[in-house]
Amino acid sequence: MDEQRYQHFPWQNEQWRYLQQAMAQGRLPHALLLTGPLGLGKERFALSLAQSCLCQNRDVSGRPCGVCRHCQLMYSGNHPDLQWVRPEEGSKSGEIKIEAIRALTAGASLTSHTGGHKVIAIQPAHRMNHAAANSLLKTLEEPTPGTVMLLLTDQPARLLPTIRSRCQQVLFQPPDKQQALAWLSDRVTHADPGALLALANGAPLKAVTLDDAALLASRGEMLSDFLALGEDRRDPVRLAGQWTPFDRSLLLEWLAGWVIDLLRLKSGAPSPQLFNRDHVQALQMMADKLNSRALQRYLTRIYQARRLVDSNLNPQLTLEKLLIEWRACSRQAA
Ligand SMILES: [Zn+2]
Repeated sequence: MDEQRYQHFPWQNEQWRYLQQAMAQGRLPHALLLTGPLGLGKERFALSLAQSCLCQNRDVSGRPCGVCRHCQLMYSGNHPDLQWVRPEEGSKSGEIKIEAIRALTAGASLTSHTGGHKVIAIQPAHRMNHAAANSLLKTLEEPTPGTVMLLLTDQPARLLPTIRSRCQQVLFQPPDKQQALAWLSDRVTHADPGALLALANGAPLKAVTLDDAALLASRGEMLSDFLALGEDRRDPVRLAGQWTPFDRSLLLEWLAGWVIDLLRLKSGAPSPQLFNRDHVQALQMMADKLNSRALQRYLTRIYQARRLVDSNLNPQLTLEKLLIEWRACSRQAA
């Protein structure tokens, strides 16, 4: 049995200590909003905190014992006092619906089965639709003693302000580079972990998922097609067709990263500050030909597309538009 498995990450020590202190003093907030970019381990932190709440023998630092009945139930994924709500698998809208929130909050389901804490996690919390969010709001307004709600999100601005104001926010930020690289060193095979970390915008868990030669090769090809389209050497509609099967969130994130790097290069940023420092030459050549204002406007368009990515019913059309706009953007004189 691996009792380390729900251990929070080293860069989360401060948040951990703060909440453990609150727990020891009996003032753990009834609702926590765990926010920060993806790839920092918010889910692991939530599991770790849940186990700490439920364990009967946690130590003075709040670390769960790993052997009591509660810890065993946690490891088997069947603790009756931990409920985890996500969008239904295969759901087209990707929403968390009111039925899921009602099931959590109805009758006695907010009370612990075992006489201790009850922990409810909602992830990603910004995927709750309007009805679901309103239903949760009622529960947040009348908290049940002993019940802790954990709302996880990388996009807190998409939550109802009334939900945000009823939760205590716990913010996670990328660790400093030295700490992240030390943690990454024996977890990735890439020759330059720093390049992975830059591409992951400093998020260590994301850097690990990017440590994939085939994925990085696809990214290289996509970037060169993107730059070629900027020189009118590709067809935007055909390219959109090729890219559509690819993970949309990741694609839009990369697209934004390329454009941000083009802007950074235009303003003379040194290559260590780039996301794509492994493609600096190709990006620099393109940057020299582009117009900063047009690039800024284009970046705004990518962000708009990113906000709609969860609910976008016609991804190919969106991509076609974005690529046609990119060709127009690259035709503007520098
Ligand atoms: Zn335990």
